[in-house]
Amino acid sequence: MDDFVLAGDLGGTNLRIAAVDRQGRLLCRAEVSTPRYTDETKIVEAARGLADQCRAQVGAKPIALGFAIPAIMDAEDGRIFRSPNLPELGGTPLAASLEANLGLDVVLENDANAAAIGEHWLGSSSDFASSIFVTLGTGVGGGIILDGKPLRGPDGTAGEIGHMCVEPSGPPCGCGSNGCLEQFASATAIVRMANELRNEFPDSPIFGIDNFAARDVFQCGIDGDLLCREVFRRAGMYLGVLLAGLINAVNPDAIVIGGGAADGWDLFIDALRTEITKRAFPEPAERARIFRASLGSDAGIIGAAHLAFSRYGPIRPA
Ligand SMILES: [Zn+2]
Repeated sequence: MDDFVLAGDLGGTNLRIAAVDRQGRLLCRAEVSTPRYTDETKIVEAARGLADQCRAQVGAKPIALGFAIPAIMDAEDGRIFRSPNLPELGGTPLAASLEANLGLDVVLENDANAAAIGEHWLGSSSDFASSIFVTLGTGVGGGIILDGKPLRGPDGTAGEIGHMCVEPSGPPCGCGSNGCLEQFASATAIVRMANELRNEFPDSPIFGIDNFAARDVFQCGIDGDLLCREVFRRAGMYLGVLLAGLINAVNPDAIVIGGGAADGWDLFIDALRTEITKRAFPEPAERARIFRASLGSDAGIIGAAHLAFSRYGPIRPA
């Protein structure tokens, strides 16, 4: 049996744990609905149950646990500063509780940073030293890998691309600012923008769907509906404006775009590229290759596994 680690991904909906080997292969996986409580104890109990399942299935002791969570934290000592989607985690000693309950060394990481690390290890940006990862989901997350290392910053907020402003008078954002990228390029924003444009496109078939979702806007856009195409064009434009600035500031080799709303790629990529060409310096704009993420919803788990190996059992060179 080769060495393996446990790697977890905590989302607002599901908690997943997998056993991952040094090649990044998932040996087994287990999942439950994310338990909600006043503190971290139910999450730790659930993680313990999933970890026990994986340990029993693999039949050996893992090296450590890497855990991707939706929070801003000190990745060195595991202190959680805040978690907008799971506020009960704020200020809790999650890493210490997991270590005590699982009997394993634990490393925590912000979920978008973990996904950036996963894509950098085995995904779309694996051939590049520096990359920017953006995930377009319910919100917009981001991670920056500079010269092979994740950029975290002393307060753990580095890479929070979703909360950079692209429209100063734009809608209020959950972070307290206005007009953040998240208000224009998330799945939530796709639905809001479609509703806002309703009067200009009263005949759009999207309004015949009860409680339509971003996926419906995407499907109608693919089918040629002008409203839905305009919504994704705007999302691509705002994302392009922001990425042009990041291209100038960071000079990345690659940009990787993932998350559910990245399914609208064909509807937003032209507008995105147009803004980059228009706004970024030509040399870094030419250099920055733009890819769709390739690891899907496993990116966070694979990144968390890489962190666990990196800290507690160095990965052999490929
Ligand atoms: Zn914001």
